[in-house]
Amino acid sequence: MPEYDYIVVGAGTAGCVLAARLSQRDDVRVLLTEAGGPARTRAMTVPSAWPENLGSTADWADVTTNQADAGALAYPRGRALGGSGAINAMAHVRGHRSVYDGWAAGGATGWTFADLLPYFRRSERTLGRDARLRGTDGVVPVAPAAEADRHPVASGLFEALRAAGHPVTDDLSGARQEGATWVDLAIAGGQRVSPADAYLRPALARANLRVTTNTLVTRLNVVRGRCTGVTCISGGTSVTAHAAREVILCAGSVGSPQLLMLSGIGPAGHLKAIGIDPVADVAGVGCNLQDHPIAFASYSAEAPLPVSKYNHGEVYAALRSDLAGGHPDLHVFPILFPLAPPGCDAPAAGYALVAAVVGPDSRGSLRLSSSDPQAAPLIDPGFLRDGRDLTRLSAGLTMVRELAAGPELAFARAAELWPGRSVHDDAELRRYVRRTVGSYYHPAGTCRMGTGGDAVVDPQLRVHGVAGLRVADASVLPTIPNAHPNATVLAVAERAAELLG
Ligand SMILES: Cc1cc2nc3c(=O)[nH]c(=O)nc-3n(C[C@H](O)[C@H](O)[C@H](O)COP(=O)(O)OP(=O)(O)OC[C@H]3O[C@@H](n4cnc5c(N)ncnc54)[C@H](O)[C@@H]3O)c2cc1C
Repeated sequence: MPEYDYIVVGAGTAGCVLAARLSQRDDVRVLLTEAGGPARTRAMTVPSAWPENLGSTADWADVTTNQADAGALAYPRGRALGGSGAINAMAHVRGHRSVYDGWAAGGATGWTFADLLPYFRRSERTLGRDARLRGTDGVVPVAPAAEADRHPVASGLFEALRAAGHPVTDDLSGARQEGATWVDLAIAGGQRVSPADAYLRPALARANLRVTTNTLVTRLNVVRGRCTGVTCISGGTSVTAHAAREVILCAGSVGSPQLLMLSGIGPAGHLKAIGIDPVADVAGVGCNLQDHPIAFASYSAEAPLPVSKYNHGEVYAALRSDLAGGHPDLHVFPILFPLAPPGCDAPAAGYALVAAVVGPDSRGSLRLSSSDPQAAPLIDPGFLRDGRDLTRLSAGLTMVRELAAGPELAFARAAELWPGRSVHDDAELRRYVRRTVGSYYHPAGTCRMGTGGDAVVDPQLRVHGVAGLRVADASVLPTIPNAHPNATVLAVAERAAELLG
């Protein structure tokens, strides 16, 4: 491979933004390398088919270490053009503004909500939202489920939330970031719009952009403290590409810390223990893994329910547990197909109501299992490690069971299958939550941006201790937003592209 100015590693949500923005400049040559393939499959296109991505060739299909009493959990992440943004559930929503203000207060200087707002707006195209806060001519078209096409169980849940006295908002990314809403989805003309569709595919014809798929980056090359390029495996052969200016790591919250550590950038003790010579002792690499744990109640309906025309969710509520601080710490939403906890039988017809902790106190980690770049890393999201998260999740599950029992969902004639009637006191509910906890699939934070000993990148996203290297993806988020993260990752990547200007 010849020399480039910028090499972007990973064509996921962030990588697509970076490659498209950097290659807008005629004077730079950009290489984007992606481990997955180029296809835009049916499951990546038809919104309701998105669960078919899980376990497909577009999924790294990781598993976690044992979590609470649930054992190892399936932990999907995208491996394709578009990355996790090509296989995800398409919800497009910002975290509460106080989350970003907290980033800045914690050392990520210049990353308040006000600082990020132009980048949020630039990445999205909305219609009928508050134009002072939302983008109207940005890149990714987003909109909520059309009123005529909404799923009856989603509508019932929305009404049940309202009837129970929970707040309602017209836009969780707008002025009132709390309550139940029909959330924006990255769907246009009945098809998913992934970051690859919106950013990358329109840029593919540019002469100064080269995209290589099925190319696994195995190492960042560091010479005398400067990152000079990458080594990859492509078609069974090892190849090297040189970056005259910078390498930008966008391999995600699992891939980015993994690649840093494989290259000798990380906690020196851990690296030595698995036989890697440290290049830069950056203690925070792989620490601070944050994710949203979920638990759900499963309902068996007497007759089949309609199929969602959208993402099998449609309605999301950002609510507060008694432990919430400055913003909602719980999500409540439906899964609009029959579902049972792992190891239990799903009903023939039905749905699930889910509670998620979106302001977790637990922290986990990402570590290497070996120095082999093809070996799966050790992923420990630390679910429920902090007892407050168990309290929150149990409270959320109690909420959804109460909502399901109301008249608004009675039309579905559904009975609670799991946890089931025998689980009613608090101790039993907590045991059920510990046994069935799962992931919302939102890992973040493993290359934390900020200052201080455990920060991995500075507020310009430059890796501490290595020149010519930045990280710009979900891994740099200092704390996980109390929302689905993709909209935030788009904004962070937009900002990163400008920092490189
Ligand atoms: C099943 C699922 C559902 C989700 N639902 C939602 C949702 O509805 N809304 C939302 O906001 N968020 C959702 N998310 C999360 C969201 O998609 C991610 O937070 C976001 O895509 C992260 O972007 P990223 O750029 O950090 O990483 P990714 O998009 O994961 O991109 C990383 C890319 O790097 C590539 N890569 C990794 N290592 C290497 C290597 N060594 N060499 C070459 N390439 C490499 C990967 O193949 C991948 O393409 C979901 C995630 C999943 C998995």
